[in-house]
Amino acid sequence: MSSVDLETWSLVLEECAVKNATLIAVSKTKPTSAIQLFYDAGQRHFGENRVQELVEKAETLPKDIHWHAIGHLQTNKVKYIAPFIHLIHSVDSEKVLKEINKEAIKNDRQINVLLQFHIAEEDSKYGLHPSEFDAQTFVKWQEKYDNISFHGVMGMATFTDHDEQIQEEFQLLKSIFDRLKPHAPAEFIEISMGMSGDYPLALQEGSTMIRVGSLLFGSR
Ligand SMILES: *Cc1c(COP(=O)(O)O)cnc(C)c1O
Repeated sequence: MSSVDLETWSLVLEECAVKNATLIAVSKTKPTSAIQLFYDAGQRHFGENRVQELVEKAETLPKDIHWHAIGHLQTNKVKYIAPFIHLIHSVDSEKVLKEINKEAIKNDRQINVLLQFHIAEEDSKYGLHPSEFDAQTFVKWQEKYDNISFHGVMGMATFTDHDEQIQEEFQLLKSIFDRLKPHAPAEFIEISMGMSGDYPLALQEGSTMIRVGSLLFGSR
């Protein structure tokens, strides 16, 4: 079911404005017609989790849309989004980072990325492990991959009703950001956390980018 909710969109946008955060409208599985309605209302940041779907939508929709890749990325798919992607949220291994850098060089551009961390209790979710990723590794990656621009961190909280747990997981991501920040370039400013169910908590804990899908587009 697609039921575009522009009223909710403008309310969420206001909450973002108060916190100086960016709203990314997560349009996965939704038709381009629905995306166009938000675009016409002024929305420019859209997120997709599947490469093929992202590319197809980008081809038909206005060129000034900023596309965000938010799902786990297979290395063999990187080349399709490398020419135009605005921000890749899901760098969860050196392998995929290396591939993004390679494709960035081919396209003669810098590609913006976030480091995705595993902050949830569930082990089904992708991400770097906070305890295994230190500042030294981060510095090494910056030296090795010249065509990568590190913009911050991303994480997904556990799918639960327990606000306290979600809050602790967001605080963990914020602490990871704070730990890396002194070793990062100036553009390392983003903390991508918060979805339809938990974005108010995320904003409260310092999110700078929320990724909201079903609340805007209807359930999937
Ligand atoms: C689908 C998805 C979202 C949005 O989820 P909603 O609950 O529909 O808001 C956010 N982030 C990622 C990584 C997703 O895959």
